Amino acid sequence: MTSTFTRQWPRAAFTLSLVLLLAGPAAAQKIRVVTTIPDLADITRRIGKERVSVHSLTLGVRDIHSVQVKPSMVSLLNRADAVVLMGLSLEHAFLPALLDVAANPRIARGGIGYIDTSTGVVPLKPPKTLSRKGGDIHPRGNPHYNLDPVLGKLIARNIAEGLSKAHGEHRAFFMKNLQAYTAELDRRIPGWQKAARGLDGVRFVSYHDDMAYFAKRYGMRLFGTLESAAGIGPTPAHIVQLVERMKAARVPLVVYGTYPSRVPQRVARETGAAVVPVPLYVGGRPGVDTYVKLIDYLVTHLSKAVAR
Ligand SMILES: [Zn+2]
Repeated sequence: MTSTFTRQWPRAAFTLSLVLLLAGPAAAQKIRVVTTIPDLADITRRIGKERVSVHSLTLGVRDIHSVQVKPSMVSLLNRADAVVLMGLSLEHAFLPALLDVAANPRIARGGIGYIDTSTGVVPLKPPKTLSRKGGDIHPRGNPHYNLDPVLGKLIARNIAEGLSKAHGEHRAFFMKNLQAYTAELDRRIPGWQKAARGLDGVRFVSYHDDMAYFAKRYGMRLFGTLESAAGIGPTPAHIVQLVERMKAARVPLVVYGTYPSRVPQRVARETGAAVVPVPLYVGGRPGVDTYVKLIDYLVTHLSKAVAR
């Protein structure tokens, strides 16, 4: 009983300590990044690879404008070296409060680890006036720019620059990975453009105005939203009126992202439009686990729906 175990034990222990010795410092040095949405987590992993550990605060299946704050989010932010966010007030419902409580100066607004990927994005639909009547959840213009793959390249660049600022020793590594990821998107963008030809000029109704950048990229035209205003849910009077207008204009498509299906399904039934539940973020539909798959899914499923 003793013999085999005791004879092998010193060797096993030696191997184990060697493994720890090799893995330990590298693991300890990983840059801890917290992102607000899974899209940013996927892209951060492509830039930081084995030198980062990445957590997303949200899963991509819920309405980003009404994310519930959880204690686990505070502890993630408390230990983080960097926070990567979309900005343009997309995370307004939860991030400012979390950063306050986390009290981590590295990732506080303006801190060296505060990486806002909207730098350089020209927001669509800037508000003319700020009033609650028009909905107040897009106060700095439309923040849903993650759905334009050309802006996906800008997101990647902002992440690489942001990580390099605080971790200059890895700059060459991040920039090399950025170049590879940008090249991958550059290879795919013409294919998506070609596959999305059928979307050009298509009018559609969206639950919330979250497809604006995707629509602009592929020539789709927003006919209306099921929400009566940004962040203000569908009212019966608004829906009755919208259905009438959609019928008269023969609008062929209704999409809804992270919102309940009842109203979009009903509107599609009453108007004869196709109805598509769309992922708005990575993780928004089963199998959509990377940013590239997210754009793929949208192009493929929307094209199929309007081609029927
Ligand atoms: Zn929104």
